[in-house]
Amino acid sequence: MSETVLILGGTREAAELAAEIVREHPDWRVITSLAGRTKEPKPVAGEVRIGGFGGAEGLAVFLERERVTRLIDATHPFANRISANAKAAATLACVPLDTRTRAPWRKQSGDDWTEVASLEEARDALPSGARVLLALGRQHIAPFAARGDVHFVVRMVDPPAEPLALPDHEIVTGLPGRTAEEEAALLERHAITHIVCRNSGGNGAYAKIEAARQFDLPVIMIAR
Ligand code: NAP
Repeated sequence: MSETVLILGGTREAAELAAEIVREHPDWRVITSLAGRTKEPKPVAGEVRIGGFGGAEGLAVFLERERVTRLIDATHPFANRISANAKAAATLACVPLDTRTRAPWRKQSGDDWTEVASLEEARDALPSGARVLLALGRQHIAPFAARGDVHFVVRMVDPPAEPLALPDHEIVTGLPGRTAEEEAALLERHAITHIVCRNSGGNGAYAKIEAARQFDLPVIMIAR
């Protein structure tokens, strides 16, 4: 029986899943939904829709209108609001929900991690004079503005629309490096002493953790 699948995406895994379903079920309708945070998202197999739904109710309306038979939440593990909406909307519209959450990274021998529970704790864990790779989305930068004694290298997919509020920073645009070598080169180029990141899990952003291990670099890891 043909199905209509809605994938809540915005991750590499979601794009891979869309490609897999399109390949294996050419008669299914596969729609990937993106929030619209990235200016030029990579092409995704099947249909793509962009922008919020208007909360759980809006998503439920979409599910009913498009006669979605299967909802897959393949969003980023820190995208909590859309995941909560997916649960509520699936119940409202009586559509089965499949949640694909990446497992978090586990600390390995050679890793120097300080595990913290919030952005504020991460900010406070940095020593004065540190040169920090801030590998966080732009909406998570504000708490670090209080640290005028730290130099931040902020990595972002797109350049910010407005100047960042950080007193001492530079911006590196682009996706995370795919290999530990690429990430090691970035760490060296900017004389990075600490990394701040969230425990996203998955392969896409792991290379910086491997590079940090290589250099015995401390990582301030924000837990889920
Ligand atoms: P969020 O806080 O959970 O969601 C905020 C709002 O954005 C949602 O209520 C929803 O608006 C809209 N939204 C989020 N994901 C959507 C999707 N896939 N399709 C349509 N609307 C979506 O999410 P976030 O942390 O801002 O992340 C936004 C997107 O970026 C997610 O799709 C996520 O997979 C991706 N992403 C996030 C991170 C991260 O670090 N959080 C990293 C990489 C990729 P409405 O309520 O109006 O529907």
